[in-house]
Amino acid sequence: MCGIFGIYSHKDAANITYLGLYALQHRGQESAGIACLDGDSAHFHKQMGLVSDVFTADVLKALKGILAVGHVRYSTAGSSDLKNSQPIVVEYMKGYLALVHNGNLTNARIVRDELRDSGSIFQTTTDTEVIVHLMARSREKTTIDRLIAALHIVEGSYSLILLTQNELIAARDPYGIRPLCLGRLRDSYVISSESCAFDLIEAEFLREIEPGEVLVISERGLQSLFPFKRMTRKHCIFEYIYFARPDSFMFGRTVYTIRKAFGRELAKRDSIDADMVIPIPDSGIGAAIGYSQASGIPFELGLIRNHYVGRTFIEPEPSIRHFGVKLKHNAIHDLVKGKRLVVIDDSIVRATTSRKIISMLRYYGAKEIHFRVSSPPTKYPCFYGIDTPTRKQLIASSHTVDEIKSYMKCDSLRYLTVEDMKNAIEGDYTFCDACFTGDYFIPFPKSMDMEQMELFSNDY
Ligand code: 5GP
Ligand code: SF4
Ligand code: MG
Repeated sequence: MCGIFGIYSHKDAANITYLGLYALQHRGQESAGIACLDGDSAHFHKQMGLVSDVFTADVLKALKGILAVGHVRYSTAGSSDLKNSQPIVVEYMKGYLALVHNGNLTNARIVRDELRDSGSIFQTTTDTEVIVHLMARSREKTTIDRLIAALHIVEGSYSLILLTQNELIAARDPYGIRPLCLGRLRDSYVISSESCAFDLIEAEFLREIEPGEVLVISERGLQSLFPFKRMTRKHCIFEYIYFARPDSFMFGRTVYTIRKAFGRELAKRDSIDADMVIPIPDSGIGAAIGYSQASGIPFELGLIRNHYVGRTFIEPEPSIRHFGVKLKHNAIHDLVKGKRLVVIDDSIVRATTSRKIISMLRYYGAKEIHFRVSSPPTKYPCFYGIDTPTRKQLIASSHTVDEIKSYMKCDSLRYLTVEDMKNAIEGDYTFCDACFTGDYFIPFPKSMDMEQMELFSNDY
């Protein structure tokens, strides 16, 4: 998972991109980077860490130029280190290129092996790098035609922004799996994974980039191309469930509205007598509000989250641990004591977090705990850009709801059904839901099943 941002023709391109990345920080906390192309030179800076740590005033000052792209990373392919961070900046026969990508190219390994066998030297282990190699080798004349030729070869999901010395190009895969939108900031254009970045910089939201669209922004204005075969839309429903920021407008709807609707659907089929609905913050909040409104059971913030727990937390001396889940979540004792609770989270992955939270609530005297999940059981790994662990680690892939309930030690457990999820979305249902249904519409090599990385170990 990643967040991408780009700006065309603004005197403070790097500074605006920095702000844009700030608004997209939730999409990736591993590394951040910005590249600016300025006439014949390229300036870029990328580093492991949060946007606020990576960029200082001096660093931003050195990023000269009126065109910029930026990236925050949460790796799905390629190991988590600096050489794999983006933007990828290269110099090829047509000049400098800077590329940022959100998604996952399912045939990257195969394409990469072929390129390597015929002489390409790879600098990173990311799937994204194959795009620039394919462009460099293409026989097409213009950069845009080279990009289109490269995108005809790769498969999988991509929302990407490419910077040349005088153009900003945005492209979205034919299924429109990952989000990407276009905005205007006075005389400049901006591209972002999510519209919440436009609000911050006071840009006007114009529209989403269409699935299969290649949008070229240059001196001649906007040029929109549709070079690929039209496909059925398959927007990632998990963006609505968990990933996107609630204040973003995405796939034609506001994310918060959908999260509440998921909660409402959950409540519709429930007839629990309970004293309060409490979310596991932050991810469960929208659905818990919807559940509370539909059921009439009062909403309470029974759990409080510490927002300052970084990924690098080191357990101190063994004698004074185990802090476990309390590092991140704590309950309000006298609120939950003796109460019948409906506890809501957006999803269950391994059930380890939820299990610990349930045990903590019991410790503080909760009388009943009815756990509700505002998505269907996550049974299948994602190969299209969200890092879910291997099938083995997804508890719902090998356990029934009843078994999960016993493991979590709650009084009852219910998930949203796939039907409920579809009902919650007004208008046409044009979504990928493969992690719930196993309905993979782009094939992937068998080996990928093994390669899914473990990101859940230090952050949940
Ligand atoms: P579990 O209870 O299964 O251990 O953890 C579930 C939690 O993981 C939920 O609160 C959910 O918000 C969170 N989660 C779901 N998908 C992802 C993801 O892709 N990355 C991270 N970091 N957390 C996720
Ligand atoms: Fe999104 Fe799930 Fe599809 Fe992956 S498999 S793109 S997480 S809906
Ligand atoms: Mg969560």
